[in-house]
Amino acid sequence: MSVGVLALQGDFREHAEVLRSLGADVELVRRPEELARISGLVIPGGESSVMDKLARAFGLAGPLSAAVRGGLPVYGTCAGLIMLADTVIDGIAGQQSIGGFDISVRRNAFGSQTLSFETDLDVPVLGDTPVHAVFIRAPVVQTVGPRAHALATLADGRCVAVEQGNLLGTSFHPEITGEHRFHEYFLGKVAAAGFHG
Ligand code: GLN
Repeated sequence: MSVGVLALQGDFREHAEVLRSLGADVELVRRPEELARISGLVIPGGESSVMDKLARAFGLAGPLSAAVRGGLPVYGTCAGLIMLADTVIDGIAGQQSIGGFDISVRRNAFGSQTLSFETDLDVPVLGDTPVHAVFIRAPVVQTVGPRAHALATLADGRCVAVEQGNLLGTSFHPEITGEHRFHEYFLGKVAAAGFHG
């Protein structure tokens, strides 16, 4: 099973390491033709406005959008979640997203870098042990449309993990805390979807 990690910008190496540790073959994706070889895709954290510009400059934005809409399993963390959202609130001028996820996401919802924080989250779909979650200039899922559903919320009720069919998204970064359950859960989706790259 070959799983792609979008490697235009951001912490793609950390995701690749987690996926390899779980037994997946990892393909770093920078070109449209590489999308044909993968069974699922992770879009890492980083800076969504830069990732968006690079995706468009490299001719990847259209093929990525087609892949998401064609049912390819995709997991986005933080900036990656912003890239998947149908609506981006507080984007920079002209910022676009790949879309596909029936959600609106507010960028930098917790303020500047110094407002990054860590907390433990209940994520029922991953079992009883809470997830230790690191938020870095993170977005929140402001609205969850009828095709999507929340997987985790903060104590104040704001949604920070979400799912819709083959799509999975977190506002935080499991790839940097040794938390592998989201990636395992995602690989389950990849196996079930049966795309053969
Ligand atoms: N604030 C970043 C953005 O808008 C996301 C930060 C992150 O991925 N850790 O893309």
